[in-house]
Amino acid sequence: MKISVIGTGYVGLVTGACFADMGNEVCCLDVDEAKVQELRKGSIPIFEPGLDAIVLDSLEKERLFFTTSYETAVNHGEVIFISVGTPPLDDGEADLTNVINCSTEIGRFLKGYKIIVNKSTVPIGTHQLVEDTILGSLKEENKQDTKFDVVSNPEFLKEGEAVNDFRKPDRIIIGSSSEKAFKKMKELYRPFNRQNDRLLEMDNLSAEMTKYASNALLATKISFMNEMAQISERLGVDIENVRRGVGTDKRIGNSFLYSGVGFGGSCFPKDIKALSFISHKNNYEPKILQAIQEINNSQKKILFDKAMHHYKKDLKSKTFSIWGLSFKPGTDDLREAPSLVLIDLLLQAGAKVKVFDPVSMKNFEEIYNHSEVIYCAQAEDVFYDSYGLFLLTEWKEFRTLNIESLKSRMKNPVIFDGRNIYDQEELEKQNIPYYGIGRGRSIY
Ligand code: NAD
Repeated sequence: MKISVIGTGYVGLVTGACFADMGNEVCCLDVDEAKVQELRKGSIPIFEPGLDAIVLDSLEKERLFFTTSYETAVNHGEVIFISVGTPPLDDGEADLTNVINCSTEIGRFLKGYKIIVNKSTVPIGTHQLVEDTILGSLKEENKQDTKFDVVSNPEFLKEGEAVNDFRKPDRIIIGSSSEKAFKKMKELYRPFNRQNDRLLEMDNLSAEMTKYASNALLATKISFMNEMAQISERLGVDIENVRRGVGTDKRIGNSFLYSGVGFGGSCFPKDIKALSFISHKNNYEPKILQAIQEINNSQKKILFDKAMHHYKKDLKSKTFSIWGLSFKPGTDDLREAPSLVLIDLLLQAGAKVKVFDPVSMKNFEEIYNHSEVIYCAQAEDVFYDSYGLFLLTEWKEFRTLNIESLKSRMKNPVIFDGRNIYDQEELEKQNIPYYGIGRGRSIY
């Protein structure tokens, strides 16, 4: 099948590459010319495990090509995916400028029947906005008779596991009111839907809402466990035991129960803000959504509070080590990462930081040019002359802590474990003070 994908970010590039990998002819469009130039050469602008191999293979087999021309992309695809960014505005509302711009362009070049699929995460009702915008463009071009359908097909992939998630989705949501569009979408997704039927058909509104509800529920689990960690800590309870005990209940499940320094990324924070905005606009005060955000904001500051307690509010001129900058392992994405909040607070308190992350150093340097931030080439370089280690992202290579190396390089090591991955007892046996999240040692 001939497919076009508009927007070549985490979602668009994975979508385009995975469909090409299944034998489709895929055209990927982006407005960012430099990005398109790089992609044409097979250089992948984001870190996403496994993605480079399928992009290169599809380029070589000429099943994938990149363009900045809407005319080319709209002419090429029988199915045209919209996967552009929908960032938050200051008041939390999703900014639909990119979606509107590309709908306008689609309308300009649309000739015969096409299916326009919205994969971006968008406010409930946006399918109608896309349709109206395309209709507006068609009218301007005097092509009112041109037919098209708008499908809502939200994406559920996780950064860091995006290729695998796309290839083996838990579910494929297709929202539409057109039988013709359902049939085509089923055909397109058939290779990803072979083992058992994961394709759920529904109306557009429900599909759009399903995406927001899923992200809000996952974020609720995280903030709920962070609240339990706060309570546990004050009671001398170890949240790690509680997590294991709670997770064995099949009705609850094990995933998303880890307490930590809060969630970040390009999706949860913005989608919860957007859903809250929609809710307020429709005269409902969302209580849980509000609480998720409040808990998450304070959780991002929790290790700073612990450091202030340990060093008796004197962080001035002290150097600290930071392991992990991206909002989670497996990605170079820094959007809303807890590292940004903690590093800001440390610098404001007069401290210096030495940072290391296996993949997001370059991205971090681009947004964080500060004389008190020292970028280290190797993980253990951050230990030299440092007072304490903050573990923020649980990359595999940070999971085993070399205590000898830590002791020999650091002044008086202290561990601030933002992901509860280290052995509290073992560190304390070695006279290394340990601060985790909800591990039963209260500072309050
Ligand atoms: P991104 O910022 O990584 O990429 C968006 C791309 O769209 C950029 O390359 C940008 O240049 C391009 N773009 C912007 N306006 C354009 C236009 N008018 N025409 C063509 N290209 C344009 O974004 P992303 O993380 O891939 O997210 C895209 C959408 O998918 C968002 O709505 C997001 O919420 C949703 N989503 C993201 C994830 C994720 O893990 N990143 C998962 C599920 C859903």
